[in-house]
Amino acid sequence: MEKSSDAAQARDAASLPEAGRGTGAAMHALCTELFPLLRSITGKGVRDTLAGIGRHIPLTMTEVPSGTAVFDWTVPPEWTVREAWIKDPAGDRIVDVARHTLHLVNYSAPFKGRLPLSELRKRLFSLPDRPGWIPYRTQYFKEDWGFCLSHNQLQSLREGEYEVCVDTTLAPGSLTFGECVLPGRSSEEVLISAHVCHPSLANDNLSGIAVATFLAKALAAVDRRFTYRFVFAPSTIGVITWLAQREAMTARIRHGLVLSGVGDPGAYNYKRSRRGNAEIDDIMSHVLKESGLQHNINPFIPYGYDERQYCSPGFDLPVGCFSRSTYGSYPQYHTSADNLELVRPECLEQSLDLVLQAFSIVERDLRLRNLNPKCEPQLGRRGLYSLVGGHNESQKLQLAMLWVLNKSDGQHTLLDIAQESGLSFDLISSASNALSQAELVTATVG
Ligand code: ZN
Repeated sequence: MEKSSDAAQARDAASLPEAGRGTGAAMHALCTELFPLLRSITGKGVRDTLAGIGRHIPLTMTEVPSGTAVFDWTVPPEWTVREAWIKDPAGDRIVDVARHTLHLVNYSAPFKGRLPLSELRKRLFSLPDRPGWIPYRTQYFKEDWGFCLSHNQLQSLREGEYEVCVDTTLAPGSLTFGECVLPGRSSEEVLISAHVCHPSLANDNLSGIAVATFLAKALAAVDRRFTYRFVFAPSTIGVITWLAQREAMTARIRHGLVLSGVGDPGAYNYKRSRRGNAEIDDIMSHVLKESGLQHNINPFIPYGYDERQYCSPGFDLPVGCFSRSTYGSYPQYHTSADNLELVRPECLEQSLDLVLQAFSIVERDLRLRNLNPKCEPQLGRRGLYSLVGGHNESQKLQLAMLWVLNKSDGQHTLLDIAQESGLSFDLISSASNALSQAELVTATVG
């Protein structure tokens, strides 16, 4: 029962979307600050990224030692990069990870030596159909090394002997994840997750980080019904590690969202949770529909981002994935063209606005029970008719009260009532607050 404080809380949560206005440039600046860092699934790049996020929101870092068993996986060795480059036969450094983080195949094992171009070529990766772009490659699970470069550069290489330096270490250390927990009146939690393991890729990685960070800032400033937990973790192994470390608390998760690829100008995509009909699925569908923006609502598939782990059958959490262009669907994906020009301030801001609208509903959505369910109660006697002055807005509010009274059977959420009535969620929420204050309805538990 949260009746007494609902009204005050609802006013605050209703104002959430205002907090996103004018934040596009600041979110883009955060992407710009974090862009050059050489991130991977472990190591300094992740820690420096978390430190950057921690300058905006309170963040706790957890280090999980290499070798720790996490379900069917093991926390890998920590990767450290000092330098990595190739010198051509003339002694010129033609490829250097210091120039672009994508040049080094991520997680490359150490190597130093000289080899002819014919041998070196086997370790060089390019994109023949996008000859100006550098691809992003990883090799987490075998000890090997390689470099990525533009196809134009690859084709320009002359025969001869090349010198290669991959001064890296793969050694026992730890995997790092960050959490920002914003306590609410309830210990039930809302999970927001963004991956932090991609090096200089802006949309796939940094856009989700920026929107999650500014979402946390906005939520930190309002009175919260739910406890919010933001997880910034390396993709796959990082989230598997997080789930292994936090398994006990996952039972408290009521809603969740993976944020990724939210900064490009593409149409929106929402991927439903494995459950398919979780409240967050309804809320995201509603917000996107009401926005009038181009979007797709997609069913769950066991491929994509970290919803794969959250929605594995042993957890089956109510977690969906919110994106603009989805993984693999745009040419710049996993290349050097996923850069700070692809991600635009106004696109970040629009994504944040939609997510704020969604959490504004998450905070206020309730199931109510009508305390006077036999025939309509007398609204006038309770001062509720004074709200109804005859002009248009008041008439709408009266209609909304009638809808709320009729559907408050403990089964329908306020969002259900908004959708069925065709009235806005804000209006239905205002009506429910007025009825709650008049003690005509009360929130059901759960
Ligand atoms: Zn990716």
